[in-house]
Amino acid sequence: MGLGVEWAVDWLKLSAKAMAEHRVELIEMDRAIGDSDHGENMDRGFQAVVQKLEEAPPETPGAALKVAAMTLMSKVGGAAGPLYGTAYLRAATSLGDLTDVDAGAMAEALAAARDGVVARGKAEPGDKTMIDAWTPAVDAARNAAATGGPLDVLEAAAQAAEAGATATDPLVARKGRASYLGERSAGHRDPGAASSALILRAAVDAASSPGSAGTGPE
Ligand code: ADP
Ligand code: MG
Repeated sequence: MGLGVEWAVDWLKLSAKAMAEHRVELIEMDRAIGDSDHGENMDRGFQAVVQKLEEAPPETPGAALKVAAMTLMSKVGGAAGPLYGTAYLRAATSLGDLTDVDAGAMAEALAAARDGVVARGKAEPGDKTMIDAWTPAVDAARNAAATGGPLDVLEAAAQAAEAGATATDPLVARKGRASYLGERSAGHRDPGAASSALILRAAVDAASSPGSAGTGPE
């Protein structure tokens, strides 16, 4: 059995919760190597996503992710809004009209999201961006899809993203605002990689405890 629209809506709601809970932490990370707005941007953007989902409940996982894409693109300024917007839009397109997302479709949706961020931002692995969370996540997701179900895919992706975000600490930024600092960007975690890991962890939580975001009959 795959994951349906309740999962997708829960994922976005739990992402919003995570952005609110980690708002200050993400602000502090961005203060060190950027302009302090990442936590604020992500919190505001995801609260708007939740509001849109409540106004017009989507019928498929792809439709839910499309709402996230459109809302984040219009509500979140800076680099992250368009990057996450593109990620959700590509993932939505990859899922199409599927009502039940199996392991293979899940891994390919995550790959499409990552490819969207790369197409938009042109970052490579090691540039100290969210790509350093997404790329290992996609590799792990594809490996997990060969043998496991969609929850295994998400768990593998979240774990790899968390390790990838931690691994940005020593890197020197080569893309985005942090790159203006040059060598001084080393010794700090990339905020976009950290928020990406939180978002992928929320996907696991939505799949492992249905209804935990206050949606659905459970
Ligand atoms: P801004 O840098 O405009 O203030 P945010 O603070 O919201 O925007 O987001 C910063 C994050 O965006 C960075 O931590 C990094 O992960 C990500 N980022 C910036 N530029 C790029 C890029 N070209 N490709 C991928 N990710 C990027
Ligand atoms: Mg910023």
